[in-house]
Amino acid sequence: MKVTEHLAKATGKTLFSFEVLPPKKGENIQTLFSNIEPLMEFKPPFIDVTYHREEYVYRKHTNGLLEKHTVRRRPGTVGICAAIKNRFDVDTVPHLICGGFTKEETENALIDLHFLGIDTVLALRGDPIKSEGQFKPEPDGHAYACDLIGQVADLNKGGYLDEEQDETSATNFCIGTAGYPEKHFESPNSGADIRYLKHKVDRGADYIVTQMFFDNEQFFNFEQRCRAAGITVPIIPGLKPLTTKGQLTALPRSFYLNIPEELSEAVHLAPDNAAARQIGIEWCINQSRELMAHGVPCLHYYSMGKSEAVRKVAAALF
Ligand code: FAD
Repeated sequence: MKVTEHLAKATGKTLFSFEVLPPKKGENIQTLFSNIEPLMEFKPPFIDVTYHREEYVYRKHTNGLLEKHTVRRRPGTVGICAAIKNRFDVDTVPHLICGGFTKEETENALIDLHFLGIDTVLALRGDPIKSEGQFKPEPDGHAYACDLIGQVADLNKGGYLDEEQDETSATNFCIGTAGYPEKHFESPNSGADIRYLKHKVDRGADYIVTQMFFDNEQFFNFEQRCRAAGITVPIIPGLKPLTTKGQLTALPRSFYLNIPEELSEAVHLAPDNAAARQIGIEWCINQSRELMAHGVPCLHYYSMGKSEAVRKVAAALF
């Protein structure tokens, strides 16, 4: 079932969903399954699986020359989605990115997903790879998520690349897109960010999942600005319990977000990581309670490869 159908079915009830990362190359999928298993008692209607594009590494030869190599550390999003779906009988949402994909490769990935009965995708641009500095699309790829969304929406009408439109072979994907309560780091201002988000919805996005945030006011303001701009699709808040002192700097660095002073001070003063983690979990529970009372359709948790903290949050709420 599509994400939007799950949301429509759950009238008045807040759903619980979460996101996992594909295991690192060479690891066993069993590790991933055992991370998911403890979260299944909270009956998630869907589980997101992130996509990680290639990175470049440089190998130095004895003559001093550097040779460029491509490395993919977490491959297999499509296969992992199929494996989770079969193992737990739950809908899975693969993340699909522009970076590293030509339009043709995107079309092939979508055809595979359609065959597998996966009917929702989260369509993203992807971050620049470390060695690039700024995002560079493939020569025949998409520069922005809105264009990727457009391709999926076209396929939903039977519009395959280089073929006559044929509605009998149309796909039926529900399309998610990303939103940023604290603005995407490349946007000149939040007004422009919301305009681009509206454009993604106009191109075919059916729902929005937000970047993580630690201050609900940021979400409430974002939601209000979206509604004022005419965005009517469901908006799902993304949350993550803070679990180490190191995340006080790592999360703002990676995700361009603010950590409220009250939380950062408490974590900073915590005697050790175990105490910091407890503070992070309680903060996330309180955030979740307020969002549930506000009437959000679903709470989406970033597990970032470890599910125990998310399980503790869910156990207090669902
Ligand atoms: P876009 O919507 O294309 O926006 C990128 C930037 O361009 C923004 O600054 C935007 O304002 C601007 N912009 C948008 N449209 C236009 C336009 N038409 N003209 C000019 N400017 C425009 N990354 C991964 O690699 N793998 C993942 O699995 C993954 N999962 C994610 C899940 C969620 C819920 C979120 C919030 C992010 C995720 N990301 C993931 C990170 C994401 O890829 C990055 O944040 C990326 O930098 C932007 O992606 P986007 O889809 O928001 O891009």
